[in-house]
Amino acid sequence: MTGIAFRSIGCRTNQEEMFALRAKLSTVGYAAVDEIENADIVIVNTCSVTSSTESKTGRFIRSISKNAPNAQILITGCFAQQHGEALLKYPGVRWVVGNGDKHLIASIIKSNSGNGLFLSDINASGGHVFWEDDILGPDESGRTRFSVKIQEGCDFKCAYCIVPSLRGRSRSAPKGQLVETFKRALDKGYKEIVLTGTHIGQYCDPGGLESLLEEFLKIPGDYRIRLSSLDPRDLTDTLISIVGEENRVCDHLHVSVQSLCADVLSGMARPHDKLDMLIKRLHDFREKYPQSGLGADFIVGHPGETGVMFETTLRGVESIGFTYAHIFRFSKRRGTPSALMPGQISELEKKKRSERLREAIAESRKKYLSLLLGRPLCILVEDGSPARGISGNYLKIEIPGADFSKNSWVRAALIGIAGDGRCIAEEIVDAGGAKPI
Ligand code: SF4
Repeated sequence: MTGIAFRSIGCRTNQEEMFALRAKLSTVGYAAVDEIENADIVIVNTCSVTSSTESKTGRFIRSISKNAPNAQILITGCFAQQHGEALLKYPGVRWVVGNGDKHLIASIIKSNSGNGLFLSDINASGGHVFWEDDILGPDESGRTRFSVKIQEGCDFKCAYCIVPSLRGRSRSAPKGQLVETFKRALDKGYKEIVLTGTHIGQYCDPGGLESLLEEFLKIPGDYRIRLSSLDPRDLTDTLISIVGEENRVCDHLHVSVQSLCADVLSGMARPHDKLDMLIKRLHDFREKYPQSGLGADFIVGHPGETGVMFETTLRGVESIGFTYAHIFRFSKRRGTPSALMPGQISELEKKKRSERLREAIAESRKKYLSLLLGRPLCILVEDGSPARGISGNYLKIEIPGADFSKNSWVRAALIGIAGDGRCIAEEIVDAGGAKPI
């Protein structure tokens, strides 16, 4: 049986696409192999979001033919969409498949014919959201959280971002199909379903993200739903209260804030006139649901960001109290307006700013974790022994000295934070069986 190794670089959507493809190919006679050395074919879903990711992707592709000289390589994803034919010159690369042609991969591999470039215009895909219907259960996939890709692409044009040109305009998967996928994932044994996409807030099959959530919540079962990253433009009071109050929706928000300074947001071509409303909403979310997780993405060092503007973001972060954050240093992307802007910031200065932001986030996280001490959390066990798992409010939790079956619920209380930041908990035994809270 032909062995295929699947690798994904970049966002959660890329990872999910690889799992979906693996499920598909395993139902048509291919064996998934873990080690590249043992693979006949290697499929890589790539990323182009920053220049450092691009160089990493390039290095990784070159390393494959060194470790598996006979393997045939298929490159797909944003790096493929960006560089196309040039990638056919990489050693071992037989196929380059763009983001708009991913649905062809299974047939390309099966036909085993010809080499080549499959790179149609990403906006000519007629609203197609790449997805494969086959689902690997938790035991086959080795994971406990299943992601449903509800949407792909983006209609916005942030000045620093290359994604819309590589993933195309926003398009949404049909609600009916998503509800079926959701049910089948539950039937396969998943307990946590993550809604993913390039920009899930742009989900627009009638009624948008909120109505899709309502549809899912009509499905009976012992599960919880987690939302992946939301843009400030997607945040509504309804969505915030669903996250804060609906038992089967994780009490965890992740918002791609990028900056809390109106001038910087304006330079990024992101909405800046409603910044006060955003700050108020995030504030209120922290106040009203103090146990909930609130994460964010930030970009430091966007061209034109002065020291004073950065301080504004820092003050905003300290006042809101995020519980974690992903902090990126601005990276020039060829073809984006920001790459040509005056006022480029030095790498050293970007480094200083990202360190200061990291410290501010670490401070608010410390306060948040101390507030949670002793409070009950519902953990989905990802690793049975020693017991490790994830809570609804997005904490990675360890329960020393305990063994639990993988993919089970455990009700536990936070008892401490280890020196390296690990969250330590102990099981609450009188619960009579944990339910998602
Ligand atoms: S919202 Fe902006 S940053 Fe996000 S994918 Fe769209 S263009 Fe890129």
